[in-house]
Amino acid sequence: MPKFKLEYIWLDGYEPVQNLRSKTQVKEFDSFPTLAQLPLWGFDGSSTMQAEGHSSDCVLKPVAVYPDATRTNGALVMCEVMMPDGETPHVSNHRSTILDDADAWFGFEQEYFFYENGRPLGFPEQGFPAPQGPYYTGIGFKNVGNIARQIVEEHLDLCLAAGINHEGINAEVAKGQWEFQIFGKGSRTAADQIWVARYILLRLCETYGLDIEWHCKPLGDTDWNGSGMHCNFSTKFMRETGGKAYFEALMAQFGKNLEDHISVYGPDNHLRLTGKHETAPWNKFSYGIADRGASVRVPHSFVNNGYKGYLEDRRPNSQGCPYRIASQVLKTVSEVPTK
Ligand code: ADP
Ligand code: MN
Ligand code: MN
Ligand code: MN
Repeated sequence: MPKFKLEYIWLDGYEPVQNLRSKTQVKEFDSFPTLAQLPLWGFDGSSTMQAEGHSSDCVLKPVAVYPDATRTNGALVMCEVMMPDGETPHVSNHRSTILDDADAWFGFEQEYFFYENGRPLGFPEQGFPAPQGPYYTGIGFKNVGNIARQIVEEHLDLCLAAGINHEGINAEVAKGQWEFQIFGKGSRTAADQIWVARYILLRLCETYGLDIEWHCKPLGDTDWNGSGMHCNFSTKFMRETGGKAYFEALMAQFGKNLEDHISVYGPDNHLRLTGKHETAPWNKFSYGIADRGASVRVPHSFVNNGYKGYLEDRRPNSQGCPYRIASQVLKTVSEVPTK
């Protein structure tokens, strides 16, 4: 029987941004293991802000498994963190309590910066490169350098090999900034894939001596773009029935719940959602057709289809937790009657 290298991955207890953690367990299986075959495992929660030293065991409960193309017989095992009884979710385990709906579809656009020695990749040691303009979807050494695209391509291939549903990649507005898009049906499915794709990217970058900067405004109040994680979403009702009246009621509810959304859309978002750089001010809800300066962008296709299809909430940021973001979207949707 082959020995499989199972990389158990979980989110630690740091706030406001949880870090990814992982460790390997080697186990024999006849063939690539199913989720049901994967055992619970444990770790020392006192080192991850998840327990006190005198009672430090936490339990890892596998919730999704993906092939790991970087290893012979490798598997990436996404886990929830449980209390020692193995049944009670740990307080840091947000996945366990979120709203889910297999007919709710999510497309997340994860933006991020490659960082080298504390600076965006491609920035000179002092000062700044040429201003923004040519970098977005840019081609050529002076725009994207000579390593970033290679990493982005390798990341794409590793994610596809893992069965992660990437829908695209592009160079972004700032130098050293890139994006990938992942589409999934159900909030847990889509959000698990974002976390695992983040994991794969971080691990890949180790070999290049680079870090990923996930902060939403790493260059502060300058003319350099921040990073978002736009959340495109549609429910079955939005896709099949929709209508202008429902759309307007939905947007009114999004407006009413502004604080709830902002509170889970990632830290420091007031630094990014300023009204500049294709953002709307964080404290004022707005929507608009094809409007990238609105909180929610309504695609042309949505209106042309009789107010049916998906909407794009542009406010979630690059450091946001996709579990909590998707759940809040579903919560607000659930408050709007469909009759
Ligand atoms: P842009 O950069 O113009 O905002 P992208 O192409 O980067 O657009 O992202 C659009 C996202 O919308 C993709 O992640 C895609 O998966 C998602 N999407 C498309 N159709 C739907 C749908 N019906 N429901 C939810 N998400 C969708
Ligand atoms: Mn995009
Ligand atoms: Mn983008
Ligand atoms: Mn977008």
